[in-house]
Amino acid sequence: MFKIFTPTYVAKNVYEINVDFFKKIGIKCIICDLDNTLDAYYEQYPTEKAMDFVKKLKEAEIDIFLTSNNTETRVKPYADKLNINYIFSCRKPLVFKFKKVLKNFKYDRKDCLIIGDQVFTDVLFANRLKIKSILCDNLVSKDQFFTKINKFFDKYIRRYLKKHNKLTDWREI
Ligand SMILES: [Mg+2]
Repeated sequence: MFKIFTPTYVAKNVYEINVDFFKKIGIKCIICDLDNTLDAYYEQYPTEKAMDFVKKLKEAEIDIFLTSNNTETRVKPYADKLNINYIFSCRKPLVFKFKKVLKNFKYDRKDCLIIGDQVFTDVLFANRLKIKSILCDNLVSKDQFFTKINKFFDKYIRRYLKKHNKLTDWREI
């Protein structure tokens, strides 16, 4: 039952992962969550570390695509500053909206990697799509209300997976 909630890898945050790792596992496109993965939800525009991360990916010729359950007003200004493609109101862990995106994607699913901070949205979303994933810790402890409810179950599952040695740190690869 917990298999569907198990990420391929775990990381403390996206910023500790070096680009060589993505190259090593053959990633051509990173499908990345926004809130609490790249930046806190109250950061209207990308912080310097986010700008730097995207720059490094571009230099390594790795594409990045933003997937957020948040609204257009939240996602568009942020993604536009980074000059990257995005989908808002994605409704993760549901896959029907993103499957439409995948139809026009130039990347094969095996060359993609989903990164996010939540088991119930990002990891479940990735496993349903059969795409590799990295589950990060939360960037900041501050969250929007609806996320707080999810977090309760999130903690429980993480604890279970850890106890049963189901979590692989990206550094182990
Ligand atoms: Mg998030």
